[in-house]
Amino acid sequence: MTAKEFPDTEAKPRIFLGTKTTRTVCLPTCPVKKAGSRHLIVFDSMEEALAQGYRPCLRCRPDQPEWEGAKKELAKAAARLIDKHYKEPFSLKALAGELYINESYLARTFKQETGQTLLWYHNHVRCRKAAELLEKADVPISFISSETGFCSSSHFTRIFRNYYGCTPSEYRRKKQ
Ligand SMILES: [Zn+2]
Repeated sequence: MTAKEFPDTEAKPRIFLGTKTTRTVCLPTCPVKKAGSRHLIVFDSMEEALAQGYRPCLRCRPDQPEWEGAKKELAKAAARLIDKHYKEPFSLKALAGELYINESYLARTFKQETGQTLLWYHNHVRCRKAAELLEKADVPISFISSETGFCSSSHFTRIFRNYYGCTPSEYRRKKQ
C-alpha cells in the first residue's frame, strides 16, 4: 500500500473507476461490488469518463464529490479496511493510499462522521477481538496480545484498560 503525495489543499478523490460491462463510473470508495479488474478502467477525471460514455453511479455519486453521502461511504470504507487490517500497525498513510484519498481529508472526514479518530477505531477493533479471545479461558494472554497486533503485553494492557476500564486478566476473571 503506497500513497502518492499530493497537496493538502486537494481534498477530493483523484481517480474514478469505470466498469466496462455496465458503463458506470464510481469513486474508489463505492460500496457497490465491482467486477474483476479486467473489467475496470481508471479515469483521472469525471469529464474523461463522461466523454467516453460512462454514467455516474447513483450510489457513490462521483459527479458530486462534495455530496454528504460520499463522506459517509468514505468513513465506512476506512472502517472496513481497519476491520481487515487491525493486526497491522496503524498507518494513516497506508489507509489513505488504499482509498486513493488525501490523508488529512480522510482523518477529518472520519472524525466528522463517527466522532472518533481512525487510531481510536483501530485500537477499538483490536481490543474487541482481544476481549472475545479473553473469554476463552485456554488462550494465553501473551498470545492474545500478539495475535491482536499489540507490540508488547504492557502496550496491550495499557490500551485495553482505556476501552474496558480493567486489565486483560481482570477482564478474563470477570467473565469466568
Ligand atoms: Zn459507485
